Amino acid sequence: MTITDTHTHLYSEEFDQDRDEMMQRAIQAGVTRFFIPAIDSSCTHAMYDLEKNYPDNVFLMMGLHPTYVKKNYLEELQHVEEELAKRKFYAIGEIGIDLYWDKTHLKEQQDAFRKQIQLAKNHKLPIVIHCRKAFDEIFEILEEEKSNDLFGIFHCFSGTYEQALLAISYNMKLGIGGVVSFKNGKIDQFLSQIDIKHILLETDSPYLAPVPFRGKRNESSYLVNILDKLVHIYGLSAEDIATATTENSKEIFGI
Ligand SMILES: [Zn+2]
Repeated sequence: MTITDTHTHLYSEEFDQDRDEMMQRAIQAGVTRFFIPAIDSSCTHAMYDLEKNYPDNVFLMMGLHPTYVKKNYLEELQHVEEELAKRKFYAIGEIGIDLYWDKTHLKEQQDAFRKQIQLAKNHKLPIVIHCRKAFDEIFEILEEEKSNDLFGIFHCFSGTYEQALLAISYNMKLGIGGVVSFKNGKIDQFLSQIDIKHILLETDSPYLAPVPFRGKRNESSYLVNILDKLVHIYGLSAEDIATATTENSKEIFGI
């Protein structure tokens, strides 16, 4: 059984003490494909180191995370462009809008999101969207930018059934993670109505650990707890869910 973690920050310093053991736990559990979202230029070297150590398992994205869009964001976008010109990446991510922590740079976040969508189109890559308290703002830009060559993933999807359908209408698949296991997470109530072909698995490690690890450091081996939850929701076998979501990840990332 091959399980794909489509969103995991394995280069995070939270894993500096036990990264190899943590990777082995995931691989032992069947989680063997890891897609790695970027945050900003400060994490680029750590991402390349991770890839060097796990060349068969790790697939890198490049992008500027909305929470890290500050006054210097144009320089950061320059870095994104330069790295994209140098080598292969599998997505532009994670990008989007986050109004949960701070609304000060909304204009800059919107500009960075639009510019990175353009980069994705130019490089024929999927986008990986980070959306927090910003569904309307995200959908507004997707409506402007929608086209056959715009596709990707709504990472850590936490919206309503209607928002799920809207995301899918813009060629987005839904990244399902720890939130599906939370009592107040809500998405478990309608997910069975969304065809599995639109669903991807993700941990967002080291954040958002699923039950029974909620509140602790998350890691990719915990993806099996999210898989289990989907077994209950869809009434399919773990093998079927793992296969379907891995196939979906290949369709999006091209590997
Ligand atoms: Zn993330």
